[in-house]
Amino acid sequence: MMLPTCSVPHNEIQPFHILNGLQELAQTRNFKAWFLDQFGVLHDGKQPYPGTISTLENLAKSGAKMVIISNSSRRSSTTMEKMKSLGFDPSLFVGAITSGELTHQNLQRRDDAWFAALGRSCIHMTWSDRGAISLEGLELQVVENVEEAEFILAHGTEALGHPSGAASPKKLEELENILERCAAKSIPMVVANPDFVTVEARALRLMPGSLAAKYKELGGEVKWMGKPDEMIYKSAMAMAGVDASDSIAVGDSLHHDIKGANEAGIQSVFITGGIHATELGLGSFGDIADLSLVQALASKYDAYPSYVLPAFCW
Ligand SMILES: [Mg+2]
Repeated sequence: MMLPTCSVPHNEIQPFHILNGLQELAQTRNFKAWFLDQFGVLHDGKQPYPGTISTLENLAKSGAKMVIISNSSRRSSTTMEKMKSLGFDPSLFVGAITSGELTHQNLQRRDDAWFAALGRSCIHMTWSDRGAISLEGLELQVVENVEEAEFILAHGTEALGHPSGAASPKKLEELENILERCAAKSIPMVVANPDFVTVEARALRLMPGSLAAKYKELGGEVKWMGKPDEMIYKSAMAMAGVDASDSIAVGDSLHHDIKGANEAGIQSVFITGGIHATELGLGSFGDIADLSLVQALASKYDAYPSYVLPAFCW
């Protein structure tokens, strides 16, 4: 396959390929499994991007096994229901793995040393307008008093959970104030969605990863449950029954999707029209990014894609 290449100014990095669409890459059949990010790649939270549904159908026809890997606070089943409600056909995918699912499973099983040692009393930062997160089956005691808390569970950035399961809306400054008191007590945080922001109908919204970044800044210990941690890629490979060499990840966030793929040792496709669109000076859907800006941004995030594409198109 002859694709234009572009060398980047770091000798440890492979040059990346510029693509106009996924067709030529899919037709090499070099990758048995495709791990797809959803927000900023397949849809914007409100609707699919133009051409996405037919691209998925074409990828499936080429024999690709597709798994959605998503930094979402919610469980995998919720992601599939959301995809269906947006007009996607769930049967095209092997399945979905979310950071919320990994959080739920690890808090339930507690079969590794870190989770086994974690207490049961937690401060719960969650959503209100975006819909509550259920902690059913986890045997946790939600507390409102920092003195009683053994860890922080961050599912959302809008509200503070009550012992009853209800939650009251809180301003960001109020949540950050609680974080300061938790940091003074040196309790860990589990963050169920490591994203800092998300693209929602072209607006950026604050996600739990921003609380985790703040907590780290305050000296707190953070357990990042999704991308870029390797854990989510291992789950996706197990779900598709493939090795790293047979896998490729597609995403729009250099820090989460591309860095995560780099760390998991798998190849990656960077979609420039998502979360980095503004930084790359892109105005409308399908605009082509300036290559030198992509290179500079990759260096800034220390995250290097194998392929670069304006949007998820065939
Ligand atoms: Mg994304």
